[in-house]
Amino acid sequence: METQNNINDISREKSAELYEKAKTYFPGGVNSPVRAFKSVYGTPLFIQKGDGSHLWDADGNEFIDYCCSWGPLILGHNNAQVREKVIEVLQNGMSFGAPTALENELAELILTNNRFIEKLRFTSSGTEAVMSAIRLARGYTKRDKILKFEGCYHGHSDSLLVKAGSGLVTFGETSSAGIPKAFADETIVVSLNDTNALDAAFAEFKGQIAAVIIEPIPANNGLLLQEKAYLQYLREICTQNGTLLIFDEVISGFRVGFEGAAGYYNIQPDIITYGKIIGGGLPVGMYGSSAKIMDHISPVGTVYQAGTLSGNPVAMAAGIAQLNQLLQPGFYEALNNKTTAFANAIQQYADEKGYHFKVYQIRSIFWFAFTDAEAIRAAEEINPASMVDFKVMHRELLNRGIYLGPSGYEVGFISSAHTDDDLAKTKQAIFESLDIVFNSK
Ligand SMILES: *Cc1c(COP(=O)(O)O)cnc(C)c1O
Repeated sequence: METQNNINDISREKSAELYEKAKTYFPGGVNSPVRAFKSVYGTPLFIQKGDGSHLWDADGNEFIDYCCSWGPLILGHNNAQVREKVIEVLQNGMSFGAPTALENELAELILTNNRFIEKLRFTSSGTEAVMSAIRLARGYTKRDKILKFEGCYHGHSDSLLVKAGSGLVTFGETSSAGIPKAFADETIVVSLNDTNALDAAFAEFKGQIAAVIIEPIPANNGLLLQEKAYLQYLREICTQNGTLLIFDEVISGFRVGFEGAAGYYNIQPDIITYGKIIGGGLPVGMYGSSAKIMDHISPVGTVYQAGTLSGNPVAMAAGIAQLNQLLQPGFYEALNNKTTAFANAIQQYADEKGYHFKVYQIRSIFWFAFTDAEAIRAAEEINPASMVDFKVMHRELLNRGIYLGPSGYEVGFISSAHTDDDLAKTKQAIFESLDIVFNSK
């Protein structure tokens, strides 16, 4: 049923025109599936520019942005220090395929402020970082099987597109075509927040599991916050079985704190992957571990991994300029407090009105869910029918100048560029949008 829309839909003429063109060039008109707006109303918005917390589309509509390029932009769009450092570095050329001092500089910045890793390697995306971490774990343990969780997304490499979340869930699929069954056979998938399932998997595949990979803060299929005790159990069962524990912190790294979820929960994984924030908006990923494990990587070790543009100087420059700002005293505290107040105010409004709506939040990550559940810790607990409500909310918010990722399974992010005024306007828009969703039921 179409709900009553009390304000006009924004104009999307230019975006629609660009989208028609794009469909002749790219499958579905996009270079990454969720961008196609399949789960929300209308055609995708083509973005013209971003500045601070704001975005402008091709039709000149202005939005306060809570997608933040899916997480990397913790300082908002077009941060002056990041931009200036990038411009300075690119004057000297954009790629050499040889080491530069900038790689040392970014690595030192990370390693001296992170208790959980001793050595790292840079890649050009999160997918590559995770794929390489899996290969390292297999090479190190000389085992083939890996275990992942339903509702965690780890990029689009073959072994991990087995019942993965993110865009795939949105499209109602459980895996991708084109992945040999033999690959999927090496990946065990279990539910989150379920120690019995873990016990059963380790019993059935005794001595065969190279690695368990988890988003310690699962944020690609809703925000499925795990209890610390569960993550500790995972740590223990891996240690007992000689299995490496991989924390995929491509979202949570540098987001919930400089040391990510490992620091937040104070749990030592064996390998950590980062991406998104680490590149300041340019393509960077990395994986890191103890020196002992990392030295299994080529050219010192036997696990091969490489990249023409790995450690790219311009991307390193963006990362350096971004991470330096995150290390300023009080940075995370201010960001976290701002987000907590925002989430609490929205929850309070929904509660007062008796709406079946929850705001789940950890540090500067939030997720809106149309439910009464105090917590949702596993993918199966999300009611797919509730996504209809998100769809209406998304349209109402766009019409009020608020941009959320175009799927109810995606989380939102607050950046240091979001002002009190932005957040006040956003709360008002959310209140109005919730009224429309719930009054039309
Ligand atoms: C985004 C993401 C990836 C994939 O990173 P890309 O840069 O998109 O390849 C992997 N793991 C997690 C947890 C992510 O959020």
